[in-house]
Amino acid sequence: MAMNYEGLSKENVLRLLKEYLKEDFTYSSGRILGSMCTSPHSFAKRIFIKTIDKNLGDAGLFPGTMRLEQEAIAMIGSLLSKPDASGYIVSGGTEANLMAMWVARNLAKKDRPEVIVPESAHFSFDKAANLLGIKLVKIGLDENFQVKTKAVKEAINRNTVAIVGIAGSTELGIVDPISELSEIALNNGIYLHVDASFGGFVLPFLRDLGYNVPEFDFSLKGVCSITIDSHKMGLAPIPAGGILFRDKEYIKSVSIKVPYLSGGEMTQGTILGTRSGASAVAVWALLKHMGREGYQRVVKRCMNLTNMIVERVKKSKKLYLITNPIMNIVGLSSNSLKPKRLADGLRRRGWAVSSTQTHIRLVIMPHIKRKHIIEFLSDLEELS
Ligand code: PLP
Repeated sequence: MAMNYEGLSKENVLRLLKEYLKEDFTYSSGRILGSMCTSPHSFAKRIFIKTIDKNLGDAGLFPGTMRLEQEAIAMIGSLLSKPDASGYIVSGGTEANLMAMWVARNLAKKDRPEVIVPESAHFSFDKAANLLGIKLVKIGLDENFQVKTKAVKEAINRNTVAIVGIAGSTELGIVDPISELSEIALNNGIYLHVDASFGGFVLPFLRDLGYNVPEFDFSLKGVCSITIDSHKMGLAPIPAGGILFRDKEYIKSVSIKVPYLSGGEMTQGTILGTRSGASAVAVWALLKHMGREGYQRVVKRCMNLTNMIVERVKKSKKLYLITNPIMNIVGLSSNSLKPKRLADGLRRRGWAVSSTQTHIRLVIMPHIKRKHIIEFLSDLEELS
């Protein structure tokens, strides 16, 4: 489509826009049941719009915004047992994982860098490996869908620059044995990155609520960096991911001096140049507004609805769980239908769920209400 020469009226543009956006799923319908994103908190949306012109790529012009980003990182760091962690609010889990791999590779200075990841690792590690010239060594999972730590140990060689553990896997919300990985990393002097992209805004609150949550964060001495995304269970507007490092010195390995900026000479340790200050400010405002208690309530609601599904599936003769959910991610399958066919059937009834080779995945995000679960379960039973 060519660009029009004369501009259309705002009314005409809005009318056109409405037509296109009608095609989209909406969170408020409760039909998005397979996404890790959700409708952002209304307060965060307001703050985001208010600060949309803030550019953290030229932070010398926006020192207040820079301070808010640093405070947001400190608050997230306190959730992860390290209030003095360093890092950035980035565009999401993909960029955060890429940054961690970039840092690990540069710190290790190996000719043929290799990174050990669980088979359950998000595909962002494949992208990072490709971009950074890293060989990815994928390790199989045990019967609990956790990475086999013995195999991790055996895979280490003189080219290994990092080990990755997942705290909330994409397909099932599984937490790898991070404390064992931490020991392995410390014993071998290797960088350990934890991908808590989803789990980072769930696990600390589950622990507060009395769930038995294994250690996964900076309390483990071997953990060098953590990915934790605010635009998933943190309720922030997209884009808002987070990367936190144990030691600010790590960031120097990827930092460069930028002399031309109007805010004055700066050192940038991020992949992006111009980057959203609004994301960082919205995250800061949300953390302040929600408090630990606010997020506990969100997680509790999501877990109650998750348990509703679990109870129903356990009673069903046609459906089965892949594993007992640890967080608000459910993997389930049907005795008679392949996951893809089940997901397609659900899609025809207006439900958006994701499917893998072994199961359909439901992510019970804050926009899902009890009435949606009741409707969904009835459709699910009928189809399977
Ligand atoms: N890591 C994990 C464990 C994820 O589940 C995801 C996304 O689902 C990512 C990283 C990538 O996050 P994003 O889509 O925000 O880039």
